[in-house]
Amino acid sequence: MALTVEVVCEGYLRRDNGVLLEAHSTSSLIVGGSRNILVDTSSHHLRNRLLSGLRSRGLGPHDIDVMINTHLHPDHVGNNDLFPNALRIARREEDPDPSFRKLGEDIELIPGVKIFHTPGHTRGSLSVGVETSEGKYVIAGDAFPTKDNFDKWCTPMINYDMGIALKSMKRISYLADFIVPGHGAPFPADLNGRQR
Ligand SMILES: [Zn+2]
Repeated sequence: MALTVEVVCEGYLRRDNGVLLEAHSTSSLIVGGSRNILVDTSSHHLRNRLLSGLRSRGLGPHDIDVMINTHLHPDHVGNNDLFPNALRIARREEDPDPSFRKLGEDIELIPGVKIFHTPGHTRGSLSVGVETSEGKYVIAGDAFPTKDNFDKWCTPMINYDMGIALKSMKRISYLADFIVPGHGAPFPADLNGRQR
């Protein structure tokens, strides 16, 4: 069975005059492989949206085998506690608690699902590449906080090094046919030859 990426909870950012008022991450499900994999768990505020997104696919929290956090900001890990059976994965630079498997390198988790380092927003930000029948999806976390960052080609507002953030954006754009941003719905990574 082919892998698919499904957004179970579409996150968003709410700003007023450039001031960030609310942040809730997108939560994505990778199904069709040997494991059910969830990437980011959104914020506590969207807990019911996440649960109903899973339920509408016939899944409960106990069906999630692997939970990956793109990084450990609160708006991406707010419902981690719902998935007690899941293997937890984050990069070691994020300094996750001992319940996590800490990645220090890029890996292929299962055939067709790769986890790779895309620092910039934080030192331990990671992305997840998924081979689907539609093409390659990259679940980018806040390497691309929103589609706007891609369209306007601007680095995440929060970053520790702009050059490094830009390099990660290029790496993702080079690989991806579709990008799932940290906040919002997936979009085609059509660069019209600009960055490629
Ligand atoms: Zn963040």
